Amino acid sequence: MTREYLKKAEKTAMTDAGDVRETVQGILNDIESGGDAAALKYAQKFDNYQGSVILGEEEIAAASVLVSQKLKDDIAFAHDNVRRFAEVQKSTMSEVELEVVPGLIAGQKAIPCRAAGCYVPGGRYSHIASAIMTVTTAKVAGCRHIVACSPPRAGEGIAPAIIYAADLCGADKILSMGGVQGVAAMTFGLFGLPKADILVGPGNQFVAEAKRILFGRVGIDMIAGPTDSLILADKGADPFIVATDLVGQAEHGYNSPVWLVTDDRPLAEKVMEIVPKLIADLPELNRANAEAAWRDYAEVILCPNREEMAACSDDYAPEHLTVQADDLEWWLERLQCYGSLFLGEETTVAFGDKASGTNHVLPTSQSAKYTGGLSVHKYMKIVTWQRATREGSRPVAEATARISRLEGMEGHARSADARLHKYFPEENFD
Ligand code: NAD
Repeated sequence: MTREYLKKAEKTAMTDAGDVRETVQGILNDIESGGDAAALKYAQKFDNYQGSVILGEEEIAAASVLVSQKLKDDIAFAHDNVRRFAEVQKSTMSEVELEVVPGLIAGQKAIPCRAAGCYVPGGRYSHIASAIMTVTTAKVAGCRHIVACSPPRAGEGIAPAIIYAADLCGADKILSMGGVQGVAAMTFGLFGLPKADILVGPGNQFVAEAKRILFGRVGIDMIAGPTDSLILADKGADPFIVATDLVGQAEHGYNSPVWLVTDDRPLAEKVMEIVPKLIADLPELNRANAEAAWRDYAEVILCPNREEMAACSDDYAPEHLTVQADDLEWWLERLQCYGSLFLGEETTVAFGDKASGTNHVLPTSQSAKYTGGLSVHKYMKIVTWQRATREGSRPVAEATARISRLEGMEGHARSADARLHKYFPEENFD
C-alpha cells in the first residue's frame, strides 16, 4: 500500500444513501398525486412555513430594502464576474455546418432549454451565491423562463439577500419552497409555474436524491449534493492556510468531507494539530457542522511522491481541488478528475464559491469522474439539422435503402425509395 491514512473516514457520501432514497421517493409520489396541497403540507412539515409560495413584486421590493448597499455592491460584483465568464463559455459553443456529400448539408445548433428550475439551498446558510450562479448562467444561456426556488426560514420566508440576488440576476418567478417539495413543484409545474425542462443547483442529500430520481422526465445539471473538498499540499505549503481552507469547507455541513493529501508527514501532523483549534473558534452552527464533518468524514493521506498524490486525488474526484504545492503547471497538466481547481495559495475555494466568476455548482460524490460543473452548456441542447438538394439526396437514399433492407426495416427503405423514384423516374434502382 503506497498510501498511508493518518486519519481515515468513518463515513462516506454513500453511507445514508439508501434511507434517503426511500424517503424522497415517498414524498415525490405524494406530491405528484396530491399537487399543490401536498407540496404545502411538506413545506409546513419540514420548514414550518405557511406564507406566500410565489413571491409578488411587493415582496421582492420589500426584500430589496432590507439589503445593505454594500452587500448589493458585492452581489453586483459577483454577478458581473459570473455573467462575463458564462458569456465567454457560451461563445465557445459554435454552430457548425458540413457539406457531407455534394448537395447534402448537415449542421449543429445549440438551443437553450425553455424553462429552468434553479434550486438555491437555504437550510443551514443563506446561499446568496447559489442564486447568482444558477440564475445568471440560465439567463446567459437564453432560457425563456427561470424559476429560483429556495427554502423559507420558519415564519419568515426566503432570506432577503437571496430574493434580491435572484431578482437581479434575472429570475422570472421566485418560489419559496425548499427540499424535495421545491424540486417537485418545479418539475410537476405546481403553483402555476411552467414545468421545468431542466433542474439545476446544489442542495443537501434530499435535494440531490430528488433530482436523481426525477432525471429522465426532467433534465438535471448533475448530482451536486453535500460539498466535498481535497487539498494537495507539499512541504512548502503553509499549514495554517491549509488548515484554514479545510475548516472553511468542512463548515458546509456535518456530512461534507474534506481530505488532505500530502507527501510531507510533518505538514500533515501540523495541519491535524491546527484544525481542531480553528473549528473550536467558529460560531456555534458552523462549529457543529465542521466538528462532525472533520470527525466522521475527513481523511489525511500520506503519499510517497507527487505522482501518487495526483493519482489519489483522481480516485477521490473531489468537487473542489486545491493545490498548494510547487510547480503548479505540472499539477494543472496532470490532474484529471475535479469539479473546479484552485491553483496556489493566492486563490482559494471560497473565492470560487462566492465571487471569482467560475461556477460554484459542482459535481460531488465522485461524479467529477464524468462531468464538470454548472455552465451555460448544461442549459443548452446541441441539436442537429440537415437539408439536401435532389442530387444530394441520391447517394444517401441509395445507401439508406440497402442498409434498411438488410436490417429488416422495410418502411425505412421505402422512404428512401420514394425519393429515388420521384426525383429520378427514368432510372432503375433495383
Ligand atoms: P437545502 O436547501 O439543500 O435543504 C433544505 C431542505 O431540506 C428543507 O427545505 C427541507 O425541506 C429539506 N429537509 C430537511 N430535513 C429533511 C428530512 N428529514 N426529510 C426530507 N426533507 C428534509 O439546504 P441545506 O440543508 O443547508 O443543504 C445545503 C447543501 O448544499 C449542503 O449539503 C451543501 O454542502 C450543499 N452545497 C453544494 C454545492 C455544490 O455545488 N455541490 C454548493 C453549495 C452548497
